[in-house]
Amino acid sequence: MKIETALEKLKAKGYKRTKQRERMLEIFVNQDSYIAAKEIIKQFQKDFPGVSYDTVYRNLYLLTDEEILEATELGGEKHFRLSCDTHGHHHHFICTTCGRTKSIEFCPMEKVEDNLQGYDIENHKFEIYGKCPTCA
Ligand SMILES: [Zn+2]
Ligand SMILES: [Zn+2]
Ligand SMILES: [Zn+2]
Repeated sequence: MKIETALEKLKAKGYKRTKQRERMLEIFVNQDSYIAAKEIIKQFQKDFPGVSYDTVYRNLYLLTDEEILEATELGGEKHFRLSCDTHGHHHHFICTTCGRTKSIEFCPMEKVEDNLQGYDIENHKFEIYGKCPTCA
């Protein structure tokens, strides 16, 4: 997703375009990998030294709720990335060496559901880890 698309999406939802949100999105531009929350905060505080962790986290989660960012947990730490340009539901391959991701427009849940008849499924997570062609 491009930064302008993200900002337009926010505006359409009634959120103000603030310098902070703009800067936050800039951190993700041209990155096709997940960035650790800690790293985002570090970069963000270069421009906004007084900003608290809470504020940054709140904005990260807001952007995730609005599907502008995608979030995952890697090595016990929250990571974020700009949403892929894929349409709708998808999953990721994540390179364990360079952190680059590839989106996969396939969901294995249909097959899984066959094994869970009578169960009420609320959500699911599916990620594939390994080495990308550059790192393999
Ligand atoms: Zn994605
Ligand atoms: Zn790689
Ligand atoms: Zn899925």
